Amino acid sequence: MDLVKVFIENILYPVMEKKNGNRIRKYLTELTSSQQMTIQALNELQTEKLKALLLECIANVPAYRPYAYLKDEIETNPISALKKIPILDKDRFRDTSENFINDTVDKSSLISNITGGSTGQPLNFYMDRRTVEHYEAARWRGLSWSGITPGSRSVMIWGNPIELDSMKQKSYHLKERWLKNRIIIPAYSLKSDSIINYINRIERFKPEYFYGYASALHAFAILMLKEKARLSFVPKAVVSTAETLHDFQREAIESAFGCRVVNEYGARDAGILAFECEHGGMHITVENAVFEVVDPITSEDQPIGENGALIVTDLNNFSMPRLRYKLGDSIALSDKACTCGRGLPLMDNVVGREDDVFLTIDGKLVHGHVFSHIARSHNPISKFQIRQHSPQSACLHIVLHSDSAVSEADAFIRNIKDVLPGTDISVSFVDEIPAGKSGKYRYAIREFDLEQGLKEMHTV
Ligand SMILES: [Zn+2]
Repeated sequence: MDLVKVFIENILYPVMEKKNGNRIRKYLTELTSSQQMTIQALNELQTEKLKALLLECIANVPAYRPYAYLKDEIETNPISALKKIPILDKDRFRDTSENFINDTVDKSSLISNITGGSTGQPLNFYMDRRTVEHYEAARWRGLSWSGITPGSRSVMIWGNPIELDSMKQKSYHLKERWLKNRIIIPAYSLKSDSIINYINRIERFKPEYFYGYASALHAFAILMLKEKARLSFVPKAVVSTAETLHDFQREAIESAFGCRVVNEYGARDAGILAFECEHGGMHITVENAVFEVVDPITSEDQPIGENGALIVTDLNNFSMPRLRYKLGDSIALSDKACTCGRGLPLMDNVVGREDDVFLTIDGKLVHGHVFSHIARSHNPISKFQIRQHSPQSACLHIVLHSDSAVSEADAFIRNIKDVLPGTDISVSFVDEIPAGKSGKYRYAIREFDLEQGLKEMHTV
């Protein structure tokens, strides 16, 4: 019997609910019941929530007060009223973010957060506890489809150095182990010889499931396969998050871990937006968010099944609402019904969220997030892109802020080179970095096959 799980589910959660008014399990119960509703009933539920949010916005959020004239339309047809509000992209939000804070909230009660990663430019925003609890409940509902509950033992294979910085503290690990029943394996510097140690740790811990970035899980899986390391038990699932999960990654992970891979689609600034069920359907969390998929140029609605820019309206964030927020991902909606029988609509897989894992000349894997983390502490850098051609060579393109001199980038370049010791990195300063094929700008791109690179390394 897993005593920590028993403790979390029978003591910790009830205490958090009683003492702090935590509502995660309450929301989870609601979501567990609404997933069985028909699509019409779900639409009605979503429309009611949208109406309440829009009325709040025009009354108390400075950025949305100019839309007070939509009040009648909000009352009768909230979806059509929503479409009269312009799409909010991240740049506009970043420039005017103070205007999105609800006048009636106590700012000291807000939870500050920052998005990292894919745009290379950090974005600050606020949430409140209620919003976070809705996000958590949506995650637990998705996990429940694989038989996982809030106390289930897990191993997190994580590649984000920002979070890993705070994870270095002992208190953090104790909290993870005893309050979350979870241990963390850092995936930003994995090596073949450390895999065996990690596998031994995993064997002692015997988690019910694994959780991690697609690229980090994939890197871990490749090393497991290379070292022929097998698990002696069958996990319930490996949950992939935060990045596009490619088919080749799914195959390698399933073959290494010997169980299903389940995809979670979420964003730090929008919550858990979709989750893959046990039948492979990617179900949208329609109770928490309104999805629109639009043509990236005309902003007109895309037909079902066609890829377009995802526009999200989070229905639970009343403290800093962002209506029609353009996340930067490309997705397609689907009108198929899932064989699992849940009424929640489906989406196709996400395109355009990628982070690459780099390979050093001595065979160490470095997660691409490391570079964005470095850039954050160097103000002169407006944008950058690093491309690794082979373990031995890479190029670094830098866009400086207009008021910065080239010499101010020296420390940034040094830090980047420290991460890839022995790799020859050519540096150039450019005016702009073009977006990739997916339409999204990527800051870290590995141009060679990782397995091939590791194999060649072995034979040298
Ligand atoms: Zn399903």
